[in-house]
Amino acid sequence: PTQPYDDNNVFARILRGELPSKKVYEDDFAFAFHDINPLAPVHILVIPKGSYVSWDDFSERASDEEIAGFIRAVGRIAREEGLVAQGYRILANIGMRGGQEVPHLHAHIFGASLSGRCSR
Ligand code: 5GP
Repeated sequence: PTQPYDDNNVFARILRGELPSKKVYEDDFAFAFHDINPLAPVHILVIPKGSYVSWDDFSERASDEEIAGFIRAVGRIAREEGLVAQGYRILANIGMRGGQEVPHLHAHIFGASLSGRCSR
């Protein structure tokens, strides 16, 4: 890993219930909530329950069970939110130079069109 995991990052605090969030989904491996600053009509963040800094850290250290659980949760959330028929996008920023601001792995789910800083 490029940096040690910081137990007090905002998503760790949301996971522990120390900060509020608009929860969308939760299971043994994943927790999902609405982004506080949505860049699309539907903008959900999905995070693993384990302590991983980034996709790089997760793919290196997490168990196959955790990885499968997380990936399945992302797909399940998109289906449950009704995003599949219209299509949707998944994005993960990795590392400071990759645009990652919060050092707990998160997948962005964007439903409908994108706007703002993530649009290409
Ligand atoms: P990153 O740039 O790290 O990929 O994305 C971080 C995302 O987390 C941003 O889209 C930002 O709006 C969102 N975010 C940051 N702090 C909070 C928070 O306290 N609550 C929620 N719900 N979203 C947050």
